[in-house]
Amino acid sequence: MNSEAQITDCFGYECIKKVLISEDEIKAAVAAEGRRITEEYRGKPLMIVGLLKGSFIFAADLFRAVKIPCEMGFMAVSSYGSGSVSKGSVDITMDIGRDISGYHVIIAEDIIDTGHTLAEVCRILRQRSPLSLKVVTLLDKPERREVDFKADVSLFTIPDAFVVGCGLDYGEKYRNLPFIAEVEL
Ligand code: 5GP
Repeated sequence: MNSEAQITDCFGYECIKKVLISEDEIKAAVAAEGRRITEEYRGKPLMIVGLLKGSFIFAADLFRAVKIPCEMGFMAVSSYGSGSVSKGSVDITMDIGRDISGYHVIIAEDIIDTGHTLAEVCRILRQRSPLSLKVVTLLDKPERREVDFKADVSLFTIPDAFVVGCGLDYGEKYRNLPFIAEVEL
């Protein structure tokens, strides 16, 4: 479906300004990354860790695109800061609940904005001595970075805009849109 058609098919949601990444583009990128992970980690113990809530759809899609034995973990963190801007301290509100020391771990993240959340999550997870730790993010907003953090893989680089869809919310809505769209705030 092209962007023109998608913007008129927003499940009744209002405030959609522009479709930035189509469902087909997302599917193709996730499938390609799944193939890449499949080859890189073949024969190795692998755990994909999704950061809730935003990454639940991307993490599940990526997990299904990996065609080798692989385990799944979830973690929820809340960032301290004002409004939607994180400021560096993160509080683990739900932990993986597994020993990750025998695994190659891939964090599946929805979006990297200032970079504070992932910099801190990576610091915490490295202390648990995984065999390796990498970050794959669906979206990256490098213009907004406040700390020196780079994902190992970014599927899409986007400009400084507030986006929704594929798990990303605005006021807990819009997560079920199958594409990435900018909202009118
Ligand atoms: P960071 O610590 O990198 O600033 O924050 C990352 C988190 O901020 C993401 O996991 C997400 O929850 C939230 N976030 C950042 N930018 C956006 C955006 O454009 N849309 C939505 N829905 N959440 C965002």
